[in-house]
Amino acid sequence: TTFRQAWQHFPDILELLEGRYEKPSPIQMQLWPVLLRGRDAIGIAQTGTGKTLAFLLPGLVNIQNQDPETKVFTGPRMIVIAPTRELALQIDDEVNKLQYSKIKSVCVYGQGDRGTQLRKLADGAMVVVATPGRLADLLRSQEVDLRRVSYVVFDEADRMLDMGFLCHLSLILNSVRKDRQFVMTSATWNSDIHHIAKFYLTDEIMVRV
Ligand code: AMP
Repeated sequence: TTFRQAWQHFPDILELLEGRYEKPSPIQMQLWPVLLRGRDAIGIAQTGTGKTLAFLLPGLVNIQNQDPETKVFTGPRMIVIAPTRELALQIDDEVNKLQYSKIKSVCVYGQGDRGTQLRKLADGAMVVVATPGRLADLLRSQEVDLRRVSYVVFDEADRMLDMGFLCHLSLILNSVRKDRQFVMTSATWNSDIHHIAKFYLTDEIMVRV
């Protein structure tokens, strides 16, 4: 798969990728077609494989395609949950660098200033990149409304489960649209990941690199 094959219907994304990189990475080649068809997926991949763009770009397309009735409402459309502040900030940075369709993002994490995060949410951030604890916190206090979120990513899900975040993750998943598209990445395939996949993913496709 070349950039052109994967993104032929999205000239703006194609241009952005061709201007920046030579060819898609293996995880991108495998995940893009699956995610662009709207399927749930698990990517077994390490960091440094290009996994961030593998899940971000189809997500930006997904949220652009929301039906007109949904478009009149405000609130986040896509959430990316990551185990640490550092990773969340990196992903948020990647969204900002893409500058796709003026879609704004906010990074929500425990040590960050709550007021600033809430202001960005109120200001129309469509993408929320978050660590599990702080986002669960904002959900419990009803300061964030995820009911229109149609694309969910758990990045490095194995680490998040190891860190004991399952209950935050469940709360987050139960707060989004029932028909959301859901993608997880994990460095390993283990029984915890298997369990959460069975419970929350629908007809998922697994890719390994
Ligand atoms: P990630 O695994 O998502 O953390 O990405 C690691 C690095 O690879 C980032 O700095 C990306 O900008 C870069 N990258 C992403 N996709 C590609 C690609 N197709 N070719 C070369 N580098 C890439």
